[in-house]
Amino acid sequence: MATESVLEAPPPRFTAEEIAAIAAELFGLSGQASDLGSERDQTFLIDDGAAGGVLKISNLGEDAAVLDLEAQAIEHISRVDPDLPVARLRASNTYEGHFVRLFERLHGHEGGPELDDRALFDYGATHARLNLALRGFFHPAAARNLLWHLQSAAELRPLASAIPDESRRRLVEKILDRYEQRVAPRWPMLRAQVVHGDLNLDNVLLDGQGRISAIVDFGDVGFSAQVADFAVGLASLVRGRPNDDVVRAARLAIDGYQSRIPLEPLELELLGDLVAARLAAIVTISAWRVERYPENAAYIQAWDDDSWKLLEQFDAYGSDKVAVELGAPQPVVPTSQLAKRREAALGPALTGLTYAQPVHVVRAEGVWLYTADGRKLLDAYNNVPVVGHCHPRVTEAVVRQTRLLNTHARYLYEPLIELAERLTASMPPGSGLDTVMLVNSGSEANELAWRFAEAATGGQGAIVTEHAYHGVTTKIAALSPEEWPVGYRRANVETIAPPGTEGPDMQAALDRLEVPLAATFLDSALTSDGIRFPPPDEVAAIVEETHAAGGLFVADEVQAGHGRTGRHLWSFERYGITPDLVTLGKPMGNGYPVAAVITRREITERLAATTHVFSTFGGNPVAAQAALAVLDVIEDERLVEHAAAVGTPLIRALEQLGPEVRGRGLLVGVDLASAELAERVVNQLRDEGILIGRTGRDDSVLKIRPPLVFADEHAELLVEAVARAIAAIRARA
Ligand code: PMP
Repeated sequence: MATESVLEAPPPRFTAEEIAAIAAELFGLSGQASDLGSERDQTFLIDDGAAGGVLKISNLGEDAAVLDLEAQAIEHISRVDPDLPVARLRASNTYEGHFVRLFERLHGHEGGPELDDRALFDYGATHARLNLALRGFFHPAAARNLLWHLQSAAELRPLASAIPDESRRRLVEKILDRYEQRVAPRWPMLRAQVVHGDLNLDNVLLDGQGRISAIVDFGDVGFSAQVADFAVGLASLVRGRPNDDVVRAARLAIDGYQSRIPLEPLELELLGDLVAARLAAIVTISAWRVERYPENAAYIQAWDDDSWKLLEQFDAYGSDKVAVELGAPQPVVPTSQLAKRREAALGPALTGLTYAQPVHVVRAEGVWLYTADGRKLLDAYNNVPVVGHCHPRVTEAVVRQTRLLNTHARYLYEPLIELAERLTASMPPGSGLDTVMLVNSGSEANELAWRFAEAATGGQGAIVTEHAYHGVTTKIAALSPEEWPVGYRRANVETIAPPGTEGPDMQAALDRLEVPLAATFLDSALTSDGIRFPPPDEVAAIVEETHAAGGLFVADEVQAGHGRTGRHLWSFERYGITPDLVTLGKPMGNGYPVAAVITRREITERLAATTHVFSTFGGNPVAAQAALAVLDVIEDERLVEHAAAVGTPLIRALEQLGPEVRGRGLLVGVDLASAELAERVVNQLRDEGILIGRTGRDDSVLKIRPPLVFADEHAELLVEAVARAIAAIRARA
């Protein structure tokens, strides 16, 4: 049992006059003594008309080591965060075997359910500050186990028999049951440190604005979970508020706490249960103590009514729902229900879901996606999470910068500029690609490249490959034959066969073009044209003929860039060409929206002569940090080399299966020459837990384009599954 001597020894019972005399005798402080109330000790304000003080007479069960712990903790806080208004210990002594301490008197008023929103936030922030101030503090006596500490909540159970009302007793037991199932097993995983232990509205004073002006009573200080300590304060903040304001008030206080200590997922998951456990502790310990010390009933039971009311409200609402309202993750919605809601809320213009049975994902890591029904899917399809889903470097970069500053490029901040410098430095030496513009999507990057090309050339015409995709904006959709509706034609857009096939006829396209050429756009890996790696001279010829016709050449790296094709960071580099404009997107932020155009300064000057470009989110600090983190991880994990090292044997192994395989690095097309066969393979792989896609004019090419952290073991799983699928389908045919 944690009910050690301090809770069992009777509180001292000196009168106010005796206490005034003790203060004068021990500390030379003469003044009026008035009772501040205490559970197990006696605490009196001594008012001498000047600074005064607070005298605390401990009960006879008090341990000197614990008092030293209190004193050291207060000193530590004052050193680490001198602005925190903790009541300092002025002097200590003994009287008739009791420890007697004189604390600094701080000023302020008491707070209750009338606290306004700012005060709620401020309370949370100050609580977090106090925890931060104690983070590095250690004291051997901190291991004390106190019934009030929530880790001993299970020990409340035998005391619950003191609750006279049967239904209320059962309510406490229900909370303790839930605590034992959900909290106790995970308690050891919670962040823990020495904490105040009882920071709540009764142990703080507030200034005129509702900010904490005094933190008193370190009598419950000890080692505990940080979030449990916060739950103590939270329970007192929401207690006594109108029913419909409880959750809102709690969330404002949580916001304040998280402004200094972001809570971890497990902490958020358990916070609601910890608040309930605190309330259960209040009513249970109260019922138990009032049986023993009926004369202290007024103090002991002061919080009972509001605590019961809140417990009953939580119970009526449901503990799971309370937990979610305070930050625990939502329970997963059934897939079919969610698909219906998608259709209803998002309408038919949004692209359809992939697969007949939708992939309903709830989290991801590396090359793995985890679904609502608890399955694990191997991601051999998504290029956006280029350094692996949810890479910690990128997620942390985003979160850190989000906490620090997020604004727009009309203000000066370093990450955007550093990113631009990193990108120009990544371009081939001598390319002259020295200027960067940041936008938010591949489409926008291509749109901006198009504007640059129009302004620089005076032309309006475009050449793209037959089945190219460059984006979704109106101008760029016109440059994306893959998405053209049947019979669609634009006078300013002509197509060429993808290089690497029958040979692109640039001259014929230029002849057909009714307006002067502004730009040729090319995805160097021809992803939507079926994934192709043409001979370098064919690509070089396209660049040359573009220039000869007065146009600019845009290398669209949105899909194939960032090391995907192995050997080079940018896929155009393998052809030895120098583009006039390079566009980046998709993998650039590993999922955070960020895209770029890299070009020569003189090209940007042509547009700048007539107008300027600003996109609200373009190059914002968070986007820039995401993109920088991606570049760093690609370098640190040597992912360009890795893409080639894993991709080359993967391509060889797929070739063994018979079909034509076209690939470089981890961009691989398996040409099955039949859309139906390709579709069946894709579906069978999905059934086996592997995601791939299809591409090409006839959708007959398997598209394999995993995060670059895809390893040999994943490649083996993939090859085996493709082999099985092809064999099974052929056997059935
Ligand atoms: N260019 C290429 C080559 C692409 O593959 C894509 C997207 N699939 C885009 C541009 C457009 O990018 P976003 O969807 O980010 O606008």
